[in-house]
Amino acid sequence: MTYNPMQTENPFVEILLAHCQALDAQDPLRGLRTHFSLPPEVIYLDGNSLGALPTTAAARVAEVVTQEWGQGLIRSWNSAKWFTLPQRMGDKIARLIGADPGEVVATDSTSINLYKVLSAALSMAAQDAPPRKQVLSERSNFPTDLYMAQALCQERGFELHLIEPEELATALTDQVAVLMLTHVNYRTGAMHNMAEVTAAAHKAGALALWDLAHSAGAVPVSLKAHKADFAIGCGYKYLNGGPGAPAFVWVNPKHTERFWQPLAGWWGHATPFEFTPDYRPAPGITRYLCGTQPILSMAALECGLDVFEAAESLGGMAALRAKSLALTDLFIALVEQRCSGHGLGLATPREHDRRGSQVCLTRQEGAYAIMQALIARGVIGDFRAGDGAIHKDILRFGFTPLYIGFEDVWHAVEHLRQVLDSGEWQLPAYTQKHAVT
Ligand SMILES: *Cc1c(COP(=O)(O)O)cnc(C)c1O
Repeated sequence: MTYNPMQTENPFVEILLAHCQALDAQDPLRGLRTHFSLPPEVIYLDGNSLGALPTTAAARVAEVVTQEWGQGLIRSWNSAKWFTLPQRMGDKIARLIGADPGEVVATDSTSINLYKVLSAALSMAAQDAPPRKQVLSERSNFPTDLYMAQALCQERGFELHLIEPEELATALTDQVAVLMLTHVNYRTGAMHNMAEVTAAAHKAGALALWDLAHSAGAVPVSLKAHKADFAIGCGYKYLNGGPGAPAFVWVNPKHTERFWQPLAGWWGHATPFEFTPDYRPAPGITRYLCGTQPILSMAALECGLDVFEAAESLGGMAALRAKSLALTDLFIALVEQRCSGHGLGLATPREHDRRGSQVCLTRQEGAYAIMQALIARGVIGDFRAGDGAIHKDILRFGFTPLYIGFEDVWHAVEHLRQVLDSGEWQLPAYTQKHAVT
């Protein structure tokens, strides 16, 4: 299926609501929306931050609580297969990121998994002669990644070197031990070329560690084909696993058994139920587990992952990507047609192979209030503050092709137009900052 979001070849020809409705009518993926419970009055463009609720999740979690916990009690670790949930959910995630079964576990949080893999990567680097001392990342990487790296570098005697993306080629020197990047930038939606960047890192003698928080379930990823070394990612964004869902971790099988990871808890032990006093790591990715996992959250995550299984017969990630690009192309075109003259800029690259599944608009001032006014109208995106220098304030819109349609995009932009034309965003209520933006 190829989607044609533009009404004609001519970008000045107005894109009509009827055209968007026709795109929805022809969309082979439109039925996937029934797998989600969304409030009818909401256009949800924030699935990149917290995915929507799968329709099966409430009943499934209730079943786990009342049946598996309530009736099965401790027997459910075996009878309901609770104990192997990290590996079984890992196998479902592996299909979405170009890894093989048995190479991924769903566990802990993204931050904690980053600690484990970065620590393993630094141990590998420490064996080099002479050892390299730098971890290279981007200044605009998600802060928790930078904070975790900062702490680990301090502890292990490494230096964290931060650059802008265009400095990458020159910064990849023979001092770099690990290149730690987020594949799709959370602020701008810009996407790295994983194949090229990983090859460049390897050519410079560095390991490549990828954060897939905004990639897994959003864009096709080929970790093994692109020879990445380590990867982590998030369960509650595009995977729709629910607030605080378990994250995931992948290690290239050629590295997995070379090191213990530092959080060597009993779930990563080769024989946890022998209760021996000394640690012996489990073979394979299981050694990246630490302790007892949140089973209720795992149950919800499975409901999110099962929607991707339903999408597989419709073309899987390739089909979802085609629709996502059409949705984002349409959004950009509509904003340019209908909201010009309001000082909006585009922070997201236009080229398809350089962006993820979100579009970020910039504005010198008022971005926060404009987003609050949109949210009041039921168009939910979010706001990310700039740093006042290179990075501007951002209005962020995520497009999840599992449940967003073309007509939604048209209405979202129409609301944005009305908010800007009327000036309603200037109401004092919309400038009030909340704790979570
Ligand atoms: C969302 C996100 C995280 C979240 O980390 P948590 O440990 O789940 O809080 C980490 N890294 C990136 C790049 C993200 O986008």
